[in-house]
Parts: sequence; C-alpha cells; structure tokens
Amino acid sequence: FVVFDHVQKSYDGQTLVVKDLNLSIGKGEFLTMLGPSGSGKTTCLMMLAGFETATHGEIRLDGRNINDVPPHKRGIGMVFQNYALFPHMTVGENLAFPLEVRGMGKAERESRIIRALDMVQMGKFRNRRPAQLSGGQQQRIALARALVFDPQLVLMDEPLGALDKQLREHMQYEIKSLHDSLGITVVYVTHDQGEALTMSDRIAVFNDGRIQQLAPPSVLYEQPENSFVAGFIGENN
Ligand code: ATP
Repeated sequence: FVVFDHVQKSYDGQTLVVKDLNLSIGKGEFLTMLGPSGSGKTTCLMMLAGFETATHGEIRLDGRNINDVPPHKRGIGMVFQNYALFPHMTVGENLAFPLEVRGMGKAERESRIIRALDMVQMGKFRNRRPAQLSGGQQQRIALARALVFDPQLVLMDEPLGALDKQLREHMQYEIKSLHDSLGITVVYVTHDQGEALTMSDRIAVFNDGRIQQLAPPSVLYEQPENSFVAGFIGENN
C-alpha cells in the first residue's frame, strides 16, 4: 500500500540522512518507525506527507508515485507534536477546515464533525478554543482533525510527546483502538521503545538513516538481529 523503493534523502547535497530505504507497508497496518534522534524517521514521514522529496528512489501510495498525486488527493491525515491546532478557531472550526479545503457541503461537514468528535469523546467541546483545553484534549482534537475526512493513511510523529506518562498510556490505547476499529493504515514515529512495542503490528528500527530491523514487536524483543537493536530495544524497558 505504501512502498519506499530505494529511497535516499540528502538536505545538503552531500550527507545522506536516509540511505537506500526499502519498506512496504500493508493496508491497515500499524507500522512504527522507532529510533534515536537524528536517525531519519521524521524525514521519511515528511517525504510521505509530500513536504520533502526524495533525492533518489521513489515512494508509492496505492501503486502511484506520490509526487504525481496532489497533496489534498492523497487522503493522508497527520498528527504531529508541533502541528498545532489553529488557535483563533474553535474546535468545530478546526475540524471543518480540512473538509472545506476539500469542497465538502455543509450537511456532510456537519455529520463528519459530529462523528469525529464522538470518536475521541470530545463532543461537548466543540465551541471551545484550543487555549481552553488541556494538552491531552488538544491532542484528541488534533487526532479528530486528522480523521475527519476519512483518510486512508494517517501519519503520526511523536503525537504524545508533550503529554505526561499516564495520559500518554491512555492515548496510546485510544489511538490503537481507533486504528483497530477504523481499519486505517498508520505510520507512527517515536523514539519511545515501550510505545512502539505496545502499539505496533511491525516496527522498523532506524539508526543512521537505515532500517536495522523490521519485525513484529515480539520478534524484535526476542530475536534482535544486531547489537544496536538489542541495545536500543532493551533501553528503558
Ligand atoms: P528526531 O526524533 O530528533 O526528529 P529523526 O530520527 O526523526 O530525529 P530526522 O528529523 O529525520 O531524524 O533527521 C535526520 C537528519 O537530517 C538529522 O541529522 C537532521 O539534522 C537532518 N535534517 C532534518 N531535517 C532537516 C532539514 N530541513 N534541513 C537540513 N537537515 C535536516
């Protein structure tokens, strides 16, 4: 469904921050890119989102080179730690925005907004502004905004990074249940081993622009392929 085909990326024309990446992500899969800071995870997500282009190689979405599909037709929802809600808009207006961009009529918009707010149990907060919500509530709204147009793929980059431990664990559970019930494909970036092990169908462990190992959580944990993976997975667990 999502294919990275011999993808390389350099920002300065010299150093490769992503080195010959090959990865196929199945429809409905929850794939986590896990690795230390600077290992190239976010760059991969940015290329998938269309914010950056690959220096070499190709990224395909549903068989098409993503550069050939205009951003609003890719059906990609995004939740980034720093991809904040619009502060001057209410929750309802924040959710209406991606639907208006797609030219959706008012009645359809209305039913989708109600459904998306219900999904994250935030129906009562529709008329609040982001500043009147807690961090966890804001992150739920960001999630609802990413889901409101029925994306086929959702990209998440450290979406829970700003939350405290208890809320993080609760939101991990919520994101996972939404993934399971909606059947969407999720590509999730984190440097938190525990988060990756709990949520993922498969984990791609990144280091220095390469995937060190790609496997389901239990396999990674029990049969790490090299000392980097063993050391990194073992940390903080
Ligand atoms: P983090 O978890 O800290 O975001 P990461 O694994 O996601 O790390 P990237 O953000 O993809 O890693 O960064 C990989 C490398 O590319 C780093 O050395 C970083 O400095 C560099 N880099 C990232 N974005 C840019 C940019 N816009 N311009 C130049 N260099 C960049």
